[in-house]
Amino acid sequence: MFGCVQWSDSLSQCSFATSTLPQSSQPKNIMALREKQSKFVLMTSKLIAFADSNGYELTFGDAYRDDRCDYGHSTSLHRKRLAVDFNLFRDGRFLQSTEDHKPLGVFWESIGGSWGGRFNDGNHYSLEHRGMK
Ligand SMILES: [Zn+2]
Repeated sequence: MFGCVQWSDSLSQCSFATSTLPQSSQPKNIMALREKQSKFVLMTSKLIAFADSNGYELTFGDAYRDDRCDYGHSTSLHRKRLAVDFNLFRDGRFLQSTEDHKPLGVFWESIGGSWGGRFNDGNHYSLEHRGMK
């Protein structure tokens, strides 16, 4: 018998740590985020492969931002492990415009991602979470 039957957004309202609970009893929202993070990693691998097969090269910009990072928005999906910024290159040139990223952005959206090019952040690729992109 568990101390709380109704899970909320915050674990602090529950008297049990998730690690002590059987997997089937873990809060759905917590599992959803963890599973979403892994889905995001897999999607990212597809984007990288798509870029490679279309003649682009990438380097990582910001991916995960932990609490030691003092820039960026506090609610950014970078802080939830659900966003990555890619630096884009082709034929030795650094492609910095949103338009340059569009082929990748359109592909990213086709596999379920949110592309920052829709809000003037062309190199930002994320997986929407609770309305954040
Ligand atoms: Zn970003």
